[in-house]
Amino acid sequence: MISALPSEITDPIETCILETNLDKIANGEMQKKDFMNLATAHTTKILEEIIEKGKTFVKAESENPCPECSKPLLQRKGKNGRFWACSGYPDCKFSTSDIKGKPAKKEKPILDGSCPDCAHPLVKREGFKKGSKKEKYCFWGCSGFPNCKKSVPDKDGKPDIPEKSKAV
Ligand SMILES: [Zn+2]
Ligand SMILES: [Zn+2]
Repeated sequence: MISALPSEITDPIETCILETNLDKIANGEMQKKDFMNLATAHTTKILEEIIEKGKTFVKAESENPCPECSKPLLQRKGKNGRFWACSGYPDCKFSTSDIKGKPAKKEKPILDGSCPDCAHPLVKREGFKKGSKKEKYCFWGCSGFPNCKKSVPDKDGKPDIPEKSKAV
């Protein structure tokens, strides 16, 4: 919630009070008017806007919608650096790497080539052939990765799904 606060609120103590109590309001433990009495005149107006238009605020702030569900992507810090994950998590498990502070564009999943193991769409990917660092080849990986590590070979630009594994 604190990430939704505008930069005008810079006082660390004030920010702390707001952070704690915004949670209480969200949990229904505190009335909005009580909270407003705590806030200073300076922040009251800003807070009114945040609470009333909370969803719009977040929406307007996001220039990076999820390509799968169009909810805003959020920048996160992981073991291997920054990355972007969908704010619709866990319903949507979309994530992508960070390129200069922007989410890396991913090829749109091909819906007509669903993963034989789970219902996720397959995404076309490129890899190097075994023992070669120059020869590339295409394959189709499950968009449910890393939960599903299914990959199928590429055949004429389409995933070559073996018939026997198609029907379950
Ligand atoms: Zn999403
Ligand atoms: Zn899968």
